[in-house]
Amino acid sequence: MTGVDRERLAAGLDEELARFARENPRSRELYGRARSSLVGGVPMPWMMRWAGGFPVFLENAAGARVTDVDGHTYVDLCLGDTGAMTGHGPPTVVEAVAQQAARGITTMLPTEDAGWVGEEMERRFGLPRWLLTLTATDANRTALRICREVTGRRKVLVYSYCYHGTVDEAFAVAGTEGTRSREGNVGPPVDPVETTVAVEFNDVAMLEEALAGGDVACVLAEPAMTNMGIVLPEPGYHEDLRRLTRDAGTLLIIDETHTFSAGPGGCTEAWGLDPDLVTIGKAIGSGVPAGALGLSDDVGGRMLQSAHADYEDTGGVGGTLAGNALSVAAVRATLESVLTEDAFERMVPLAGRFREGVEAVIAEHGLPWSIVQLGCRSEYRFDPAPARNGTEAHASSDPELERYLHLHALNRGVLLTPFHNMALMSPDTTAEDVDRHTEVFGEGVAAIAG
Ligand code: PMP
Repeated sequence: MTGVDRERLAAGLDEELARFARENPRSRELYGRARSSLVGGVPMPWMMRWAGGFPVFLENAAGARVTDVDGHTYVDLCLGDTGAMTGHGPPTVVEAVAQQAARGITTMLPTEDAGWVGEEMERRFGLPRWLLTLTATDANRTALRICREVTGRRKVLVYSYCYHGTVDEAFAVAGTEGTRSREGNVGPPVDPVETTVAVEFNDVAMLEEALAGGDVACVLAEPAMTNMGIVLPEPGYHEDLRRLTRDAGTLLIIDETHTFSAGPGGCTEAWGLDPDLVTIGKAIGSGVPAGALGLSDDVGGRMLQSAHADYEDTGGVGGTLAGNALSVAAVRATLESVLTEDAFERMVPLAGRFREGVEAVIAEHGLPWSIVQLGCRSEYRFDPAPARNGTEAHASSDPELERYLHLHALNRGVLLTPFHNMALMSPDTTAEDVDRHTEVFGEGVAAIAG
């Protein structure tokens, strides 16, 4: 189905695993030691996901390069799975963070930078009221609470196989019998069936039916899905989504955490979307923890009218470190001087070059694979046509093939994010970096093509 020779693939993976273990003695040693104190030998279990069986340990990251403790330097196309879409340690951000750290990291007091950030976020995303959070997850959780509060409704609508961070309501998929909990959901507080309705992306009829009951507070949507490959909206889908949510009195949250790749104001600006709320995190602080939540005038006003809702203390909206001076300084510097219009003008064509390189390899070997680009982000998948929704994308995943390609690339100095076949371009990425990937990808594919 995927056009590869499974025997050669299995043998190739064994070879790459042996090479990886041989060439990374220091990382292996650090990993062995950390296993006695850290769950799985890593700070957070998802770091066990790296293709080699253990992660390489970081020595240094700068611009579009990462160097590990065994002295290998990588072209970094993972970029912290978007947190470092700015490139690692942009000098202006390092400078702003150093200066702010010396003047106060977290004090419970606002700084002048915060107002600047609010204005700049409005200029980019169009929404006039902002809250600053510590992560994108926090922004999404806060958005859901506000939407339930102001609409008086309990349900949240998400797309099947979406990801919005560790947001309880979002771990739901659309099964044949209706919404069900996503496989692997760890200790959900309640069955997501009670909180959530999951529909397929790009399915207008299903969306209309799900909203018809009048009990959905909000739709939490990525404008294009990015966590199960890249799934683009079909022409007219966003117009239908906006019309149907408005008709149903349902609020629309657009999560731009990854789709910020589309341009300085994400897809919201690039495609002229008109959401009630926008959430974002990761790259806006160059990887310094920061997130943001934008609200329309209407939602911002209604939010403060609920007299019984405690937004200031223990009502469930907060985070002691949210809006801390250090994070806000990082966001300001990032927006002011790193992820600018000019930067996107350089980054987006590089993602096009990446896409063309991968397309040429796919064509050369006649593989039934495809690749989708969204601004400075591109991702390939093992299916001839781009996916239409998350369920389709999920069905074509091939963990063994993915692992082989990622490890093959890692062993040759190209770092890809462990969760995706995705490459992200930073302002520091060069055409040579992209071409290096194409070359390595071509070699890796040639070794296993059927
Ligand atoms: N929204 C989207 C679309 C994401 O992909 C992610 C994380 N991959 C998040 C939110 C959550 O980000 P974080 O884990 O940094 O809170």
